[in-house]
Amino acid sequence: MTQSASEPVAFKKDTVLVIFGASGDLAKKETFPALFGLYSEGALDPSTKIICYARSNITVQKIREMCLPYCRKSTTGNDEAKMKEFFKMVSYVQGAYDTDDGYIRLRDEIESFEAERGVTEPHRVFYLAVPPSIFLTVAGQVKKNVYAENGITRVIVEKPFGDDLESSREMQKGFKPLFRPEEIFKIDHFLGKDDVRRLLTVRFANPFLNQSWNKDNIESVQVWFKEPFGAEGRGGFFDSTGIIRDVMQNHLLQILTLATMEEPVANNADAIRDAKVDLLKCMEPLGPENIVALGQYGRSVDGTKPSYLDDDTVLNKKSKCLTFTELTFAIHNDRWEGVPIVMRAGKGLDEDRVEIRIKYKKNTSGMFKGCTPNEFVIHFHPKPTIYMTFNTKAPGFDDKLHQINLDMTYAQEYKKDWVPEAYECLIKDAFLGNSANYVRDDELDVSWALFTPLLKYVEGPNAPEPEIYPYGSTGPKGILE
Ligand code: NDP
Repeated sequence: MTQSASEPVAFKKDTVLVIFGASGDLAKKETFPALFGLYSEGALDPSTKIICYARSNITVQKIREMCLPYCRKSTTGNDEAKMKEFFKMVSYVQGAYDTDDGYIRLRDEIESFEAERGVTEPHRVFYLAVPPSIFLTVAGQVKKNVYAENGITRVIVEKPFGDDLESSREMQKGFKPLFRPEEIFKIDHFLGKDDVRRLLTVRFANPFLNQSWNKDNIESVQVWFKEPFGAEGRGGFFDSTGIIRDVMQNHLLQILTLATMEEPVANNADAIRDAKVDLLKCMEPLGPENIVALGQYGRSVDGTKPSYLDDDTVLNKKSKCLTFTELTFAIHNDRWEGVPIVMRAGKGLDEDRVEIRIKYKKNTSGMFKGCTPNEFVIHFHPKPTIYMTFNTKAPGFDDKLHQINLDMTYAQEYKKDWVPEAYECLIKDAFLGNSANYVRDDELDVSWALFTPLLKYVEGPNAPEPEIYPYGSTGPKGILE
């Protein structure tokens, strides 16, 4: 049996899914709730076998209790009975990540399931929900002990994929001898969000819209990530990551790429990712000249919220870690030359919002000269909304202009339908073999090549001082709106 990214094989029955790190935070908050969501909506075949793997001495019952608060209600009800049925598909193998014995027990578990079902060409998915420091250890053991030699293996890997160009390449080098590119599924969970996936449909299935997205009509493209909370309790992780690595090099760049790339030559994973890489190659590596603002949150004005450095989990009390960054840069191609691309992200701000805004130019002539320009907006979070602002006449006897929203939000149109969550989409995609919404290595390479010089500058010996802004504010002074 063969597969490629362009002609994938869908896993339908008797698939084995192994979750490494099943005792962890991601598994409880995202992986299991997504699997249960798929199952309860009929999108995960009941013949699937789910095997948890971790070092902890826990049980399936414990995993069930851990993930329960994070599972959402199904659209069809009867969730308790469904949960019971779902967990009958789940078993647990306890073992270390770096020695053979646990993997040998895992192989026995997998093979006895496949023998019982009469499977001759196994379908196996291995989900690495473990810290990046052991990605390659687990990957090596999967290849050695549980790889489906006469079937198909897929390996799902969580971010981060390195922390700069060099470490990302190092990780790629480690995976290369183990798995073929079409066997690896690297997650950026923003690519699982339905409204991110909708971007290509909205652009390219409505040619008039796509044709107007260019330097002649567009004033700027703006991507915003705002979080109303700080690094609370996660300072250890955040201090070595910073806002640029946490959301800009990956999630925001992905959104931006889908909004600005050319139309793929075909609707398949390779063509879509080729178009993304082509677009990324039209940007120049980022450096000091692209910085508009760098910030770190201080105490809230009323003193109730601590500053970043006050956080007990931030150990370096002189840290210059950025909790806010605003960048502006260019895309050097025929479509976008000269259009400012603005990317901003911050924690400890005044609101919770992730959005992209395509701002049209002002009308410079004619009877409605200077009227409010159009905008195409997608809010990805917290409430997915997608609309275009549109000028019309207000009701009445005069010609007073009024701006309304042409709203394409799902909730307007599909009130009762099930809209899959990001992880539900991504896990389903891995079963279908659709890697269009997973990150390919050459995409990673170009994105790290763009951001690594900037990271070197803001983290280097001459790193600039971040501006301190109050927790709960709009961020550093004078940021562009
Ligand atoms: P955890 O720290 O919860 O680790 C997952 C499991 O791995 C633990 O339960 C533990 O299982 C094992 N483990 C932890 N540390 C080590 C270690 N040093 N050596 C060996 N095993 C270890 O991680 P998360 O679940 O939060 O994240 C898993 C992956 O997902 C990471 O790559 C992370 O970056 C990524 N991710 C996580 C998100 C989240 O919301 N949590 C969001 C996006 C990405 P045991 O001891 O039982 O074997």
